[in-house]
Amino acid sequence: LNEFSLIDNYFKCRNKSKTSQVKLSIGDDAAVVSCPPGHELVIATDTLVADVHFPATVGPADIGYKALAVNLSDLAAMGAEPSWALLNLTLPEFNDAWLNGFSDGLFELIDEYELNLAGGDTCRGPLNIGVTVAGWVPQNQALTRSGARVGDVVFVSGYLGDATMGLRLYCRDVASEISAEDKDYLLSRLHRPTPRVALGQRLLGLVTSCIDVSDGLMADAAHICEQSNVGMEIIIDNLPLSSAFKNASKDIDDLNLALAGGDDYELCFTCAKEQVGSIEKIAQGFDLPLAKIGMVNEQPDVRFIDANGDTWETPKKGYKHFD
Ligand code: ADP
Ligand code: MG
Repeated sequence: LNEFSLIDNYFKCRNKSKTSQVKLSIGDDAAVVSCPPGHELVIATDTLVADVHFPATVGPADIGYKALAVNLSDLAAMGAEPSWALLNLTLPEFNDAWLNGFSDGLFELIDEYELNLAGGDTCRGPLNIGVTVAGWVPQNQALTRSGARVGDVVFVSGYLGDATMGLRLYCRDVASEISAEDKDYLLSRLHRPTPRVALGQRLLGLVTSCIDVSDGLMADAAHICEQSNVGMEIIIDNLPLSSAFKNASKDIDDLNLALAGGDDYELCFTCAKEQVGSIEKIAQGFDLPLAKIGMVNEQPDVRFIDANGDTWETPKKGYKHFD
């Protein structure tokens, strides 16, 4: 089996999307794509490296799913509608079972979002998966990190810390007995994050800034603050924690997991007070909790306070590769 039949067998033949924006897909020297009139191209790329971003023992379907999910999450944070993807795959060996599993997981999301896998590259080397995704937003409407204003309300979608607690479970580092149901839930949040694509698009025109929480709320909320030249006060009692997370928690320090642990892929966004009602209606429509976790103010940086308004000291910062 050569490189070309590998591409055909595991990727090209599964590519169903006939999206009119991709005129030429896998098979030529490059893809040819267009952008709908009145829209702008939004592109994101993210690489997953074995034993850095996922334990090398994770199943191939989960790896394929997550490699695309984390990229779609970046498009979600911009409010974009995803359209096509590129896949750069470096594999240590040819392994049919692994490639089948990987392609199953990847195409689960490709099919769900009706994306076109427009191309990529395939090499031999240590396992490394690079995915690029592209989509569209109406001209000048992309959600950015830089628009938060003093007085805005800070929201976060879903629950924080589940993936990090899932990783702890995966590494068998939980003291408390937890139910099989809680365990499945936490592991699925680790291996199969949900990109909040529909939510991001729904927020267009309503919010002042948005980011996806990939490195922990503490680090990612700080990015909004830096780029918007504002500060935030986050009320720790308002942080959304799932019942599974609470059941698996060992002690109060586990709140750090919810703040500094990565891989949540929820959206953190700010909006003017007048929009809070609309945001709450959206939460009902999506059946997804959107928690009001704090306020934007002038004092730089993110501060965490408890219900009494006292400062809550946070020992750990978000994950950084070169620390
Ligand atoms: P070239 O040598 O011109 O770069 P390649 O052999 O790398 O050509 O790629 C041939 C075609 O297959 C191109 O359309 C490329 O985009 C596509 N392709 C290569 N690897 C992948 C992959 N892992 N997933 C999807 N498409 C791929
Ligand atoms: Mg190539």
